[in-house]
Amino acid sequence: MRPSSRHRSSRLRSVLGLASLLALTVTLPAAVPTPWQAGVAARKITPPGPIWLAGYANRSAPSSGVSLDLYAKALTFDDGRGGRVVIVTLDLIRLTVALRQHVEQEAGRRYGLKPQEILLNASHTHSGPEVAPDRMILERVFRQSAKPQDVAAVNAYEVFLKDTVVALIGESLSSLAPATLEFSQARAGFAMNRRRPEPKGGFSNNPNPAGPVDHDVPVLKVSGADRKIRALLFGYACHNTTLGGSLVSGDYAGHAQRDLQLAYPGATALFLTGCGGDQNPYPRANMVPGQQPEDLVQQHGRALANAVHSALAARLRPVQGPLRTAYGSALLHYEPLSREELGTFTPAQYTPEVVERARALTRLLDRGERPAPLPCPIQVLRFGGDLTLVAIAGEVVVDYSLRLKRELRGPAAVWVAGYSNDVFGYLGSRRVLEEGGYEGISANTRILNHPGRFTFDAEEAVIGKAHELLRQTQP
Ligand SMILES: [Zn+2]
Repeated sequence: MRPSSRHRSSRLRSVLGLASLLALTVTLPAAVPTPWQAGVAARKITPPGPIWLAGYANRSAPSSGVSLDLYAKALTFDDGRGGRVVIVTLDLIRLTVALRQHVEQEAGRRYGLKPQEILLNASHTHSGPEVAPDRMILERVFRQSAKPQDVAAVNAYEVFLKDTVVALIGESLSSLAPATLEFSQARAGFAMNRRRPEPKGGFSNNPNPAGPVDHDVPVLKVSGADRKIRALLFGYACHNTTLGGSLVSGDYAGHAQRDLQLAYPGATALFLTGCGGDQNPYPRANMVPGQQPEDLVQQHGRALANAVHSALAARLRPVQGPLRTAYGSALLHYEPLSREELGTFTPAQYTPEVVERARALTRLLDRGERPAPLPCPIQVLRFGGDLTLVAIAGEVVVDYSLRLKRELRGPAAVWVAGYSNDVFGYLGSRRVLEEGGYEGISANTRILNHPGRFTFDAEEAVIGKAHELLRQTQP
C-alpha cells in the first residue's frame, strides 16, 4: 500500500468514526427536546344562588354568600407524537361516577379523547356545593330543613357542571401552543395528620403531630414560546377544611391559586389534591383566639403559594416526553356490616332511603351473598424519564403517597394525587383499615353510602394496579 492511500484510508476511518459518534449522539432521547404543545382554560363555577354546601353534616341551611369564587380549570399537554392528556382541576368537594362517565363519553365523541387522556381532580373544598344529588338525599337526616327546592338546586348544578367540564376541555384543546415544561418541588408545613389516638382506644378527629404527613409541594411549570408562565400545576396532600361557615370558598387551595395568578399575570394556577384523606390544615376554624377562619385560610393559601414560589426559585428540571398514559381500576372488596349493625339504621333516625339500603343489604346477607366490589380508578401519566404522576380515586390517606414515592424512587420525579376521577369516600391503607375510626370505616358507612369497610387487602389491590399501569407506560 502506497503512503498516500494508507493516509486516505485512515482519514476515512476517522471520518466514519466521527459519523457513527454523531449518529449515536442524535439517537439519544435526551438530545431531542419534546415539541410540547400546552393548552389551558378556566371557567368560574360559583353557584348562581344559595345552595347546600358539602362536607359538614351539621349545616342546617344553604349557603349565604360567596367569599371566594370557585373555578374549573383544564390543562392539556400534547407531546407532538401522539401522546396527550387533559388535566381538569375543580374547586369542589368530590367527583361522581356520573360526572366521569359523562365527560368520558362527550370528550370522546367531540374531541376523540380516550379515558386515559382525561384526569379529573377535586380540591375537596368543604365550602363548595354538594355535587352528588343521591348523596344529598341520603344525608337529609342530618339536614332536617332541606327542602325540595334545595335538592333541585343541586340537581341543576350537576347538569351545569357536566356541560361546563366538557366545554372547558374543548377550550383547553383549542388553545394548544408551543410550550416548555419544567418540574420542581418545595414543602409546606400546615398539613397535619388528624387521626389522634385516644387513651381509651380508638381515634378522634384532632391534630396528631406524631402521625404521618406528606409535605411535598410538587410544581409543573408550563411556559410559552415567549418564556412567560402560562400555567402552574401544583399539589398538596391536605383537606380543604380551614373554613366551616356558610360562605362559598375554595378554601386554602382557592387562595393559593388566586395568589399565584396575581403574582404571575397571565398564568393559570391549578391545584391537584394529593393523598390528604387523613390530613387537615392546622390551625383551622376557631382554634386561634382573635383570628377568624377567613384569616387562617388566607395564611394557609399564602403558605402554599410561597412553597410554589420557592419551588420556582429552586433548580428546575426540564420535562421531556414521550407522554404515555394508562387508566384502569382496582377492585375493592367489602367486609359488610353485621346484621346487628344494620339493625341500627331505624326509620326514627334515618331517611327512608338509608333504611331501605340497610334492609336490602340484610336481605343480601340472608341469601349468603356479598356486596359487589367497588372499582377504584387509577391513572398513570408518564412524562418520559422525568416525571411520573399516579392519580388515585377516593379520599386517599397519606400512606399511599409515601409508599408509592418510596417504591418508585429513581431518576424520574414521582407525584401522587388522590381525589381523582371518582371520589367515592375514604380509601384507607391497610394500617388505617385495621385501626378503624373515621377514615377506616365510619365515614364510609355513616349513611350506608358503602355497605361496610374495605377488606384489609385494599391497599395491595390499589398499589398492585398502579404498578401494572406503570408497566404499561414504560418506554
Ligand atoms: Zn374528606
